[in-house]
Amino acid sequence: MSCNFDLAHYGEIVVAAQAGGYRFAHFEGAPAAGSVILRHDVDLSLDAAVRMAEVEHEAGATATYFLMTESVFYNLDSPEGVAAIARLGELGHRVALHAVYPNAPRDERFDPVVAWHNPDPAYMHVPLVDGRINVMQEPWFDPATYRSDSNQHWRSGCPHEGLRAAAFPWLQLLTHPEIWAYSGATMGQTMRAMLEAEKDRRLQQLADDRIDLS
Ligand SMILES: [Zn+2]
Ligand SMILES: [Zn+2]
Repeated sequence: MSCNFDLAHYGEIVVAAQAGGYRFAHFEGAPAAGSVILRHDVDLSLDAAVRMAEVEHEAGATATYFLMTESVFYNLDSPEGVAAIARLGELGHRVALHAVYPNAPRDERFDPVVAWHNPDPAYMHVPLVDGRINVMQEPWFDPATYRSDSNQHWRSGCPHEGLRAAAFPWLQLLTHPEIWAYSGATMGQTMRAMLEAEKDRRLQQLADDRIDLS
């Protein structure tokens, strides 16, 4: 098995967790032994999020998708945004806020959970004052039971073997859908592949908007 950052290997990671006997859980209650909390911070692409969500659904897994209301790349109030939230729900996933500090308005579309985008150490692990869960506060965050694919790099190696071997008591697994839905050996290549795909999608949106592209 090669640990590529693609949706095929993401599916294998999910299956490895199941083989290790883990159950998929969400940010509610304290993390139970034997649970894996699949967390996705959606920084750039709703299309990538929905494609990852389909892979999880086929494997019988559910995750929490953290969506931005201040993204320069997507708009949750657009038809695409409304459809993406609906589709994630149909597939059995949760949605929550991927917030840009210090803005974390309550929003009825979301579960009472917040993940800060690019947080500074000063507030990264601090609980919210209104009782919503910060995904990086205790007990949902513990460095020993946390893995992240930040910038297409696992600091402690790909977690699939550890999951298969049930080596984690429980795990919060953060992945960014864009990294897996678009191909590239490095983050830079993957981002360029995403932008190429985005160009085609944008041209289609212009055509749909009756823009003359001749
Ligand atoms: Zn792997
Ligand atoms: Zn982010």
